[in-house]
Amino acid sequence: MTMSISKYSMGVGDRFGLEGVAQLRAFQAAKHRGVAITPVWNKSNREHSLIGTRPEDVRAEAEAAVKSCQWRDAYFVDADHIGLATVDKFLASSDFFTIDVADSIGKSASDAAIAEYVADMQRFAGALRIPGVAEPVTVTAASLQAIAAKYLFAVEEAGRIYRHIAQAKGEGNFVTEVSFDEANTPQTPAELFFILAAAARQKIPVATVAPKFTGEFLKGIDYVGDSQRFAREFDEDLAVLAFARQTFGLPASLKLSIHSGSDKFSLYPIIHRAIKKADAGLHLKTAGTTWLEEVIGLAAAGGDGLAFVKALYREAYGRYEEMAKPYLTVISINRTVLPTPAEVDSFSAQDYVQTLEHNQACKRFNIHFRQMVHISFRLAAEKQAQYLALLKSNRASIESHVTDNILKRHIEPLFLGTGG
Ligand SMILES: [Zn+2]
Repeated sequence: MTMSISKYSMGVGDRFGLEGVAQLRAFQAAKHRGVAITPVWNKSNREHSLIGTRPEDVRAEAEAAVKSCQWRDAYFVDADHIGLATVDKFLASSDFFTIDVADSIGKSASDAAIAEYVADMQRFAGALRIPGVAEPVTVTAASLQAIAAKYLFAVEEAGRIYRHIAQAKGEGNFVTEVSFDEANTPQTPAELFFILAAAARQKIPVATVAPKFTGEFLKGIDYVGDSQRFAREFDEDLAVLAFARQTFGLPASLKLSIHSGSDKFSLYPIIHRAIKKADAGLHLKTAGTTWLEEVIGLAAAGGDGLAFVKALYREAYGRYEEMAKPYLTVISINRTVLPTPAEVDSFSAQDYVQTLEHNQACKRFNIHFRQMVHISFRLAAEKQAQYLALLKSNRASIESHVTDNILKRHIEPLFLGTGG
C-alpha cells in the first residue's frame, strides 16, 4: 500500500525539540472539534546545522509526543528543503521529503530532453481551457520551449532526488513534496500545470507541491502583497491541480503546500473559503513561531526567564548582520524602529510579551522586533544548557502559549474557519 497523506495537514517546526506534546495538543483539540489535521514535524538541514540537532532527534520527539498524547492517527517527519547533497542523513528518520529544486530553475536540460517534452506537450497547443481558470492559456511551441528551458531541468533534478530516496526507503513508503517556493519569481498557474506534467513524466508521485505565490512571505509576520491577487492565483492553482490530477494520473491526494513563513493571518480566511469551495486539501507549513512562543512564555514568566530573553535581544541587536545573513530574502527589518537594548531592559514582562506577540491590534506590537527575535534562535543554541533549563522550569507558561498559538491563530482560521 502506498503511504498517502490526508486532506488536511500542517507542518510545525520545533527548534529545540521540547514542544512536541504542546504542539500535538492543538491537533487533538481540532480533532475533538471534528476536523482531522495530520501533524508533520519539519526541520530543514539549515536549521539542524544552526542549532546542532540531527534528523533522528525530530523523529524521537515526534514519537515521544505521539505516545504521550496517545495520538492514534497518522503523523509524519519532514526532511524539509533537501537536495541530493543533503538528503542522506534524513533517509532513516523521515517519511515526508520536501524536495527543493528552486536552485535548479533556469538550468538547462539537454536539447533532446527539451525537444521530447515539447513534442509531448504539443497536444495542449492552442487555447488550453482549464476548468476553473478564467482565461484560456495560449500554448505555443515557443511558450512550451520557454517553460521547458526554465523548469525542465529542475523537475528532472526532483526526479533524481525522488529515485534516490525511493531506492533507500522503497517506493510508497514516504510522502513526496516538490517545492519551488524559494524561487526568485512566482510560478503562474499555467507554469504550474506544465511543471506537474513534467513531474508525472518523471513518475514522481507528487503528494504536495509548493509553488512560489505572488507577494512576500516573510518570517513570522503577516502577508505583504495584494491579497485579492493572491486569492485569484490561489483559486487558479487549485483548479490547475484538479485538472493535472485527471490529465496526468497524479495521486488523487495531490494538494498545494503553502510554505507560509508563519502567520499569514490576512490570507487564512481567503484560503479557507477557497479550499472549502473547491473541496480541496491543503498542507500548511509553518516555521519558527514555536520558538517565539517559547520566548514569549519565558518573558511572561518574569524572573530568570525574562532576564534571559532580554539578554538574548541585547546580543542579537549587537550581532545583527550575523543573525540576518541566512535570512536576508525572507525578512524585512527596519533597524531604525527596533527598540534599543536599554529600552528592552526596562520592559516589564507584559511590555516584552506585547512587543513580541503577533497581535496586530496591540499598539506595542513591533514587527521588526518580532522578526529580529525570530532569526536569533541561534543565540539560545549558544547558551543551550541554560536555555533548556529555563524551558524546563517554565513548562506551564510556555506550553499553553505553544498550543494556543497553533490552535487559535492557525488551525481555527485556516481549517475550521473560526476565530483568528
Ligand atoms: Zn519553503
